[in-house]
Amino acid sequence: MTTVITGGSRGIGAATARRLVRDGHEVVISYRQAQDEARALEKELGVTAVRADTASEEDVARLFDAAGEVTGVVSNAGITSPVGPLAELRTEDLRRVVDVNVVGALLVAREAARRMTSGSIVTVSSGAATLGSPGEYVHYAASKAAVDALTIGLAKELAPRGIRVNCVQPGTVRTDIHVLSGVPDRPDRVASKIPLGRPGEPEEIANAIAWLLSDEASYTTGAILRVAGGM
Ligand code: NAD
Repeated sequence: MTTVITGGSRGIGAATARRLVRDGHEVVISYRQAQDEARALEKELGVTAVRADTASEEDVARLFDAAGEVTGVVSNAGITSPVGPLAELRTEDLRRVVDVNVVGALLVAREAARRMTSGSIVTVSSGAATLGSPGEYVHYAASKAAVDALTIGLAKELAPRGIRVNCVQPGTVRTDIHVLSGVPDRPDRVASKIPLGRPGEPEEIANAIAWLLSDEASYTTGAILRVAGGM
């Protein structure tokens, strides 16, 4: 039971790696830059870490080559960019977000569809996909809506082969992604707007991913599971 987690060096991906190792998966994580964190996880968990940019077709193929026969895929790698109203955002940031979050997710999903003979795929979208993130990152929200759509379509394509495809839509989670957006304290800033009154922890998203991957979710495919404290 080998499961590939893209963007597994930190945040939600690393929490998912910890959880899946506990559940008995062989885990292969990919990372783009965070070599030290990835090596530390290799030591801590006995996982294999592969440097692979999910926006690169060659890197994604190399990642799956390294993993061998795969029964699980967690398509988690994703980025945001400096926040602001769309009118103020830079074209290069729009392009990079779409390249990683949409093209990257498609490349990973395509490789999984080509190689898997059984098992389960979980994509990681965002509550932003339905909230739209006005004034912050509508480009990111749009990219995550694409992840939702790809999940629904691929679930139907792969169901006849017995492969399930589902999505987790996290709300605001305490990770370093908010440093990238230039608002590192965003989780605490938005806490009062979240019905449960606090941001999520990466482990709480990992639990949902682990369930969707597991046999307990054997009749669940094409589902988009919101894990967002009520947002
Ligand atoms: P993070 O920034 O802490 O971790 C992201 C991981 O993805 C890192 O390991 C990074 O190296 C990797 N990565 C980024 N670009 C990559 C690329 N091109 N190729 C390979 N790896 C790449 O972020 P996180 O909060 O753990 O986010 C994980 C996923 O959850 C993302 O898809 C993100 O959009 C989504 N999400 C996060 C939140 C949140 O509030 N943290 C909310 C909703 C959705």
